[in-house]
Amino acid sequence: MADGWQRRAWAEVDLDAISSNARVMKAVASPAELCAVVKADGYGHGAVPVATAALAGGASSLAVALVEEGVVLREAGLDVPILLLSEPAGEAMGEVVARDLIPTVYTKAGLEALRKAAIAASRRIGVEVKLDSGMHRVGADFEQARRIVEQVVESPELCYAGLWTHLAVADEPDDPFTGEQLARFEALRSSLEAAGLPAPGRLHAANSAGAIAHASSRLDVVRCGISLYGYLPSAAVSPAPIEAAGLGALRPALTWKTQVSHVRILSAGERTSYGRAYVLAERADIATVPVGYADGVPRSLFEGGGELLIGGRRRQVAGTVTMDQLLVDCGPDSGVRCGDEVVLIGSQGDETVSAQEWADRIGTVSYEILCRIGPRLPRRHVHGGGQL
Ligand SMILES: *Cc1c(COP(=O)(O)O)cnc(C)c1O
Repeated sequence: MADGWQRRAWAEVDLDAISSNARVMKAVASPAELCAVVKADGYGHGAVPVATAALAGGASSLAVALVEEGVVLREAGLDVPILLLSEPAGEAMGEVVARDLIPTVYTKAGLEALRKAAIAASRRIGVEVKLDSGMHRVGADFEQARRIVEQVVESPELCYAGLWTHLAVADEPDDPFTGEQLARFEALRSSLEAAGLPAPGRLHAANSAGAIAHASSRLDVVRCGISLYGYLPSAAVSPAPIEAAGLGALRPALTWKTQVSHVRILSAGERTSYGRAYVLAERADIATVPVGYADGVPRSLFEGGGELLIGGRRRQVAGTVTMDQLLVDCGPDSGVRCGDEVVLIGSQGDETVSAQEWADRIGTVSYEILCRIGPRLPRRHVHGGGQL
């Protein structure tokens, strides 16, 4: 940013908040270990700095969705265990082995491809087996999981590093289905034990919601994503276990900032932006903000009544969000000028707009708001508000 010609819009990511959130989640889940989920470029926060900060806060392993995401972490020099949350394609197993990533497997074909890659590389590789206990996204059913575990244990080139499952409704703490899923997972574990098979390196089931709201899901390790970034998984998940851990609240790590790029004074009755859907009730200062849906501001934020912060006050989005810019009604005689700081997500003065607020306005989850913040927006990584 030093040269000054770049756009004045960026996401500031407080790595101290990430480390603190990791410490909090580790304390909540203790004695379980913490696996930091940094898929989708660390939920839009920057995978490598986030992973580093989470490890500094006490995480002992990482998880990503894609082989490519694991490669990015390895190339940055991170040498902790990295779990792939879905079974890699057969063609990718050579790279998985070369990069020492831990694949999840749940098909015979996937297991065979992994064995071949391990034999070709003359390496012994850790693998985790995933049970589909009811989410029905990926995983092996009960019998298939048993067979795969047996084959893993019989394969000298493989190390049985883990057995895991994923919860579908952990963020709705009253739903009894989480208990059913955990019971199915425990049934598999005990049947493997009864069959004389060795215990896996680790057993896990919990995402952030499980770690916070379902103590019995914590097992050996919890896989936390959204909580590391400072958000509760849903409004239904009580922060009480976090408060009880005594290390403070989760802190949102990301602040989205820009500057007013243009200001017009418009009369009552004027209409703004595409579709001319916003009508000025009175004369007002209309500020132009140089970020749009190509940066990840939802186009529907206007219809949802979206607000952002200028001059320490909430201001209404005035008209349809466009690709690169949006408009804001600052009211009459606002004093708002070109160059003033704008906070889209985060705090300014005493006001705060959170990713959760945007999510509620447009009918989605904070996860989607965060990971849709696009690559066009630079990320600045800071410690507690001071730039690195
Ligand atoms: C994304 C993901 C997680 C993390 O979930 P959060 O709700 O963000 O904590 C954990 N496990 C799996 C399998 C996932 O896909």
